[in-house]
Amino acid sequence: MIVAAASGTFAADLYRLRPLPAGVDPSAVEPPPADVRIVTSDGSSIPAHSSVLGSASSTLEQMLDRPLKKRKSEKIISILGVPSDAVVMFLRFLYSSRCGEEEMERFGIHLLVLSHVFCVHALKQRCTRELARRLVVENVVDVLQLAKLCDAPDLYLKCMKLIFNDSKSVEATEGWKFLQKHDAWLELEILQFLDETESRKKRSKKMREEQSLYMELSEAMECLEHICIEGCTSVGPLDKGPSKSRGPCKSFSTCHGLQHLIRHFATCEKKANGGCCRCKRMWQLFRLHASVCERRDSCKVPLCRQFKMKMQQKKMGNDARWRLLVRRVVSARAVSSLSSTKRKRSETRDAIDMGAALLHES
Ligand SMILES: [Zn+2]
Ligand SMILES: [Zn+2]
Ligand SMILES: [Zn+2]
Repeated sequence: MIVAAASGTFAADLYRLRPLPAGVDPSAVEPPPADVRIVTSDGSSIPAHSSVLGSASSTLEQMLDRPLKKRKSEKIISILGVPSDAVVMFLRFLYSSRCGEEEMERFGIHLLVLSHVFCVHALKQRCTRELARRLVVENVVDVLQLAKLCDAPDLYLKCMKLIFNDSKSVEATEGWKFLQKHDAWLELEILQFLDETESRKKRSKKMREEQSLYMELSEAMECLEHICIEGCTSVGPLDKGPSKSRGPCKSFSTCHGLQHLIRHFATCEKKANGGCCRCKRMWQLFRLHASVCERRDSCKVPLCRQFKMKMQQKKMGNDARWRLLVRRVVSARAVSSLSSTKRKRSETRDAIDMGAALLHES
């Protein structure tokens, strides 16, 4: 490559890489003489055209616009710190706007640095994508450092996620050990990210669990109305009895348990006041119904009217935890508009404990 770069035809070959308008024969294109030289780390000097470089990179354009130093007739730009072959690949991209798979594989990292430094947006995007695609445990720490350095947030995040998902293997790599020795800040940044991601995951799991509890309660409320209004397999409205003709309803697992509980409530000798837990739970479910029920006088659910009257007299329902539980159950009914309102965790916790107690055997 270096030999080719030094030869006279190299600049002309580069020039012919430029995309041509349709119908133009590449061999008919007469390349202008090179007017700039790119000097690389190993001392190679690559001839090129300032018009092409300037239009592909605003940074190069600025460098080329600077007045020449005395007695020099040719512009020289030094691109150091990356292998010469990577510089050649970079130049080929500036001329052709293209870069092959193999070049990406070999020089992706260097091309990312060059595209960042010289503001070649299209190449930077391509490198970011390709490096993300080729990300593995062995190179993730190096690529992360580079992504940070080159301000490539997508790639940075992808690296962090890989480290999060496989932190044990990453910690065994040379890259990680090097980082620990030489870049304590980045190590701290990674550990912080892992920590935050972990707690974010826990938080959303907890929220899902809470939401599903309120959904269950909301379903229980629907079943209660359905049993008391339409009737289900073993319990029916007061005036009708169970509807034997119906098959199991769509929420039968909840409905079945609830019918069991209602039958127990009707026949239990201890009752809630006598300390029966199941009756107490049924009592609370009736109370919850009354709290969310919007019917005025015609509701067929037992105790609905009595509870509503008590609530109006403010003898009941002033409890903040209870009100929160009711709000949550009501909002669970509107599944699509999952509430993102933040409430005090402790209050919510109480409401959840209360909800769980209503649903499950204690
Ligand atoms: Zn049912
Ligand atoms: Zn009982
Ligand atoms: Zn009601």
